[in-house]
Amino acid sequence: MLRLVEEHHGGSNRRFAVLLADGAMVEAVLYRGDTLCVSTQVGCAVGCPFCASGARGFGRNLSLEELMEQVDAVRRRGARLERVTASGVGEPLHNPALPAFIEACRQQRLPVSVTTSGGPLSRLPDLLRSFHNGVTLSVHAGSEAARARAVPRGPALGPLFQLLYREVPRLSGRRRRRLALAYLLVADVNDGADEIDAFVERVRPLGDLNIHLYDYNPVQTSAHRGVGRRAYEMAYARLTGAGLRVRMSCKARLEPNGGCGTLVALKARRPAGRSRSVLG
Ligand code: SF4
Repeated sequence: MLRLVEEHHGGSNRRFAVLLADGAMVEAVLYRGDTLCVSTQVGCAVGCPFCASGARGFGRNLSLEELMEQVDAVRRRGARLERVTASGVGEPLHNPALPAFIEACRQQRLPVSVTTSGGPLSRLPDLLRSFHNGVTLSVHAGSEAARARAVPRGPALGPLFQLLYREVPRLSGRRRRRLALAYLLVADVNDGADEIDAFVERVRPLGDLNIHLYDYNPVQTSAHRGVGRRAYEMAYARLTGAGLRVRMSCKARLEPNGGCGTLVALKARRPAGRSRSVLG
């Protein structure tokens, strides 16, 4: 059984260290008292350079039991959960326990949303059609060059958007409304006007999808930095001016313990020679 240790309790978020039975550690965040952000892997193989979660590479997938225990442990602390988001440490689509986790939460009337870089693409259509409470695809680029910098081991934009052009029109209106594309602005990585315009061109054929424009929460493991408030607002104006429906970072996300990208993982010490699989 895992153990939960409260690390920060400030603002509207509570952040927990999740100590796993094999000695590994991930983190979870309770937003506004009713929304739990869980981690799905120890570390991450995608390697986004601005993110603390994958800074030490990939360790292992969390089991279905470990995913559910994060929910149960936070409830034992008195939280009245209304929803869960698989947006903590790890790439949720790399973990084969994700569909069972979504279903197990659904049986407890706990809707689950997922944040993913989109790979492996073979698993994305089933996620888009599942009983999720929201899927946010981390795109963070308009050109392949910027995508390779921002999301190095996620799927390239060409095949990712080909899949979206095929799948999104087949989704129900409810599922389409709960699909969002995220663009995290990082200075000198993806903040150029040409980059944002290239993103707009890729998104336009998808119709009126929601766009989440995130400001960057700096982390100790990365030298990358945000663009500053003025450039952030200019990027927002550029996207909305192009006709996209854009949401800016919410207050909870901007707090220092604001989750996505800031959560860390520590791997357990492994006996030498033991094998591991990224996709489970
Ligand atoms: S941002 Fe998400 S996909 Fe990228 S390294 Fe961090 S946890 Fe992995």
